[in-house]
Amino acid sequence: MRKSWQEIFADTPDVLISEQRRGTVVPVLDLTIGGDDFVTIAGPCAVENEFQLMATAQRARRAGARILRGGAFKPRSSPYSFQGLGPEALRILARARKETGLAIVTEVMSERDVPLVAEYADILQIGSRSMENYSLLEAAARSGRPILLKRGLVASIADLLRSAQFILQNGNSNVILCERGIRTFDTTLRNTFDSAGIALLKQITHLPVIADPSHASGHRELVAPLARIGLAAGADGIIVEVHPDPDNAMSDGEQSLNFAEFDAMMAGLEPWLALRKSCIARVESAALQTMEAAW
Ligand code: PEP
Ligand code: MN
Repeated sequence: MRKSWQEIFADTPDVLISEQRRGTVVPVLDLTIGGDDFVTIAGPCAVENEFQLMATAQRARRAGARILRGGAFKPRSSPYSFQGLGPEALRILARARKETGLAIVTEVMSERDVPLVAEYADILQIGSRSMENYSLLEAAARSGRPILLKRGLVASIADLLRSAQFILQNGNSNVILCERGIRTFDTTLRNTFDSAGIALLKQITHLPVIADPSHASGHRELVAPLARIGLAAGADGIIVEVHPDPDNAMSDGEQSLNFAEFDAMMAGLEPWLALRKSCIARVESAALQTMEAAW
């Protein structure tokens, strides 16, 4: 007999769809994640200076992004490479929010920094390398800010769900899952994008799911196609790296889009977004008919 998903993920009951929990909608300033709208988060890998961030924020907003990303504290492979501007970057992010109205998501790497980052950010990002740092997850959960939980580099779906469950158990139900590619035997690309993982997460959990086509591919020419795949797999939004001059970015330039490329990606998503909208409308009208028939 085939095991049910409830049995397979029996140790993370709170993240699974149930009678009580159908679809979690996370409120962030004037928008929601996990509702009918597909949300685009855009911005540089790291905040490098005020000009870079402001220019990116303006262009991202004009192209339809609703949330600005930008690392202040950066997890790097080497402790000797650029670690982010820290508190100065948080202040720049806050100025960009004031100027553009975009909500802010930024990574918190240390439990110690949670109060400071939570003071500035609308969403706290838990990076892939921190997905199993439980003391950080607990502190982030207790800050009360929504959490963007990125899947670990070698984390299974069950591992991701365990971390999400832990955040919920620490009193924070505003968890957004993020598929950002995982390490596999195939090293052609930076990571392997698990689109099946997105489809599964959308079927079994009530949490919103965001796709990260930038880290999943590592190549800027693959960002637009992976964004479309993420949308088609059922993601509630995407998080994309955008930089005014990717070739001279201080981190992740190879996978960052310049402004024209970001505009083109957003325009390319339009027909797919229209299709998504018409599917939602069809599902809603079918549900309405069922309800009317029941009356
Ligand atoms: C990032 O978003 O820039 C980042 C470091 O992501 P990840 O934790 O997925 O590698
Ligand atoms: Mn990055």
